[in-house]
Amino acid sequence: RSKMDGRGTWRFFEPAMDTSLQTRRALEIDLREAMDKDEFDLFYQPIYDLRMDRISGFEALLRWRHPERGMVPPDQFIPVAEEIGLITPLGEWVLNRACAQAASWPNELKIAVNVSATQFRDPRLAAVIAKALDTSALAPHRLELEITESVLLGNSAETIATLHELKARGLRIALDDFGTGYSSLSYLRSFPFDKLKIDQSFVRDVTATKGSKLIVRAITSLGKSLGMTTTAEGVETIEQLNQMKAEGCNEAQGYLFSRPVPATELASTILSLRNGLKSLKRSDWANL
Ligand code: C2E
Ligand code: MG
Ligand code: MG
Ligand code: MG
Repeated sequence: RSKMDGRGTWRFFEPAMDTSLQTRRALEIDLREAMDKDEFDLFYQPIYDLRMDRISGFEALLRWRHPERGMVPPDQFIPVAEEIGLITPLGEWVLNRACAQAASWPNELKIAVNVSATQFRDPRLAAVIAKALDTSALAPHRLELEITESVLLGNSAETIATLHELKARGLRIALDDFGTGYSSLSYLRSFPFDKLKIDQSFVRDVTATKGSKLIVRAITSLGKSLGMTTTAEGVETIEQLNQMKAEGCNEAQGYLFSRPVPATELASTILSLRNGLKSLKRSDWANL
């Protein structure tokens, strides 16, 4: 597309467009090499069980340390990895690494791994997971897959069959960012998820707007009736935590507890969380 620039001459590309295209190309090239260069890492964020009053596990969150750009957030490179067909090997790397690290943790701690839509549709997924479990000797019930509603778009028989196969092997399946996709409720009829992760947009507003509070209430009661665990994502304040707990939410995750941390900081995170919760004023815990 051509466009007249400020000096009255015609240019074929808007400079901004050109730049973003170049940036995108560079990102693709770097992404293809990142695995060989060992630039990926997994960070872990604790998931807190509000009934048991302890950490139930960690969610693995992918990080890319780019030599010049620094940390590139997953929201920026995972969609690109999906488009250029890199998500399958990258997702396999994530599964292997997460299972291997979780195998060294105490048995009661679970590991949650995000699986993208494209990765989920890969016919080799079940085999890749079986191998990751086998190699690491991690018990299948300790591995939880987090998928979003985009995986279920189209509601294909294959998708449902894959979900049932994984569940039959003992894995747990969580529906991530719940409430933000399309026709959420029909998906709940198609498959017995183990967990609904309430999207952080609802949690953020739960103490401020009545609408969010009512949506949270509806999701937790739906989860309860369907025998699914409900987890609050993105809990940042004690007020949000108390409100989510009051609405009957089972688990919480967010900066209030801990940011995602490198594997080397897991033990200290568990310890400081234990001490941190102990040092909270009694009134802060009135509802817990
Ligand atoms: P998600 O699975 O919904 O993960 C939660 C995101 O919220 C993470 O962002 C986490 O760092 C952030 N978060 C946690 N607590 C808080 C909080 O209290 N406040 C705020 N504002 N944010 C919080 P992150 O690590 O940037 O990941 C973004 C998304 O990228 C993830 O959303 C997930 O969809 C995707 N992702 C991350 N790792 C992987 C992976 O290994 N594979 C795939 N396929 N996707 C991944
Ligand atoms: Mg997730
Ligand atoms: Mg989420
Ligand atoms: Mg998300």
